[in-house]
Amino acid sequence: MIVKSLRLLTALAVAALAATACGKEGTPPVKGPSAAELPKYQVAQGFSLPDSKTWKKADKRGHFVVGAKEDQPYLGEKNPANGVYSGFDIEIAKMISASLGLDPKKISFKTIASANRETALQNGQIDYYVGTYTINDNRKKLVGFGGPYYMAGQSLLVRTDEDDIHGPQDLDGKRVCSAAGSTPYQRIQADYPKAELVAYDTYSVCVDNLLTYQVDAVTTDDAILLGYAAKVPDELKLVGKPFSEEPYGIGVPRSDNALRFAVDTALAQREKDGDWKKAYDATLGLSGVPAPKPPAIDRYPAS
Ligand code: GLU
Repeated sequence: MIVKSLRLLTALAVAALAATACGKEGTPPVKGPSAAELPKYQVAQGFSLPDSKTWKKADKRGHFVVGAKEDQPYLGEKNPANGVYSGFDIEIAKMISASLGLDPKKISFKTIASANRETALQNGQIDYYVGTYTINDNRKKLVGFGGPYYMAGQSLLVRTDEDDIHGPQDLDGKRVCSAAGSTPYQRIQADYPKAELVAYDTYSVCVDNLLTYQVDAVTTDDAILLGYAAKVPDELKLVGKPFSEEPYGIGVPRSDNALRFAVDTALAQREKDGDWKKAYDATLGLSGVPAPKPPAIDRYPAS
């Protein structure tokens, strides 16, 4: 209930800010992904992956079911008015679907929070997952990872009126919010035990709490935080340098190596033919960082 009213409060605050911004002469409008510049992904004809249980199930169904985030600007966002998902992660999900022979327009996206990703892949709720999902050895025991397709780094988001926090070394006694089950949460817990950690299911609730002075900082990947800051630049800022490496992978069921290798091949092709960059420029690129070179695809052996 408290969370709900806070979210509403923030929605109102953001709406009011947007209204003032529009009224101010010379203030650029808040940017959003522009559909016109997004690549159109050619669906591979006659593609077949008989060794993948996941692919066969999806092929029979006629589309993939993909796990994603719905509240991460420029990465994975769901339009509340029409239920349509957009952002860089969503584009990655679409380009892979097309390369694997299934129409990306038919993908059924399901919002899955950070803490529930492994279970969703393990119990077959989703075929694959694209949502700021860091590849690491612990998670590799539970799921497989295609990619990486992007390299992020943990950072800190504070209010623009905050002067005391410049990096993780300043978090002692500060209230720091992150998502349950995330690597940034785990890193603060392990390396900065004097910070007062607060966990929610999603980062947008953390940002609501930051705007209403319930917490002092939000921590997660810079790619995610840049999106929130870009929406209300007068209220929020990133501080310090990234203090981790977060390689984003495409989560697949642990036993489905055929699917994982096919995802890696698809991604490599999309990086080569320019679709990766085109997709980045039309989505995450709008938060202000020019397209980097994508990280090397890992393609680790089956075990
Ligand atoms: N990349 C980090 C993770 O996978 C943080 C972002 C997220 O929670 O999705 O845990």
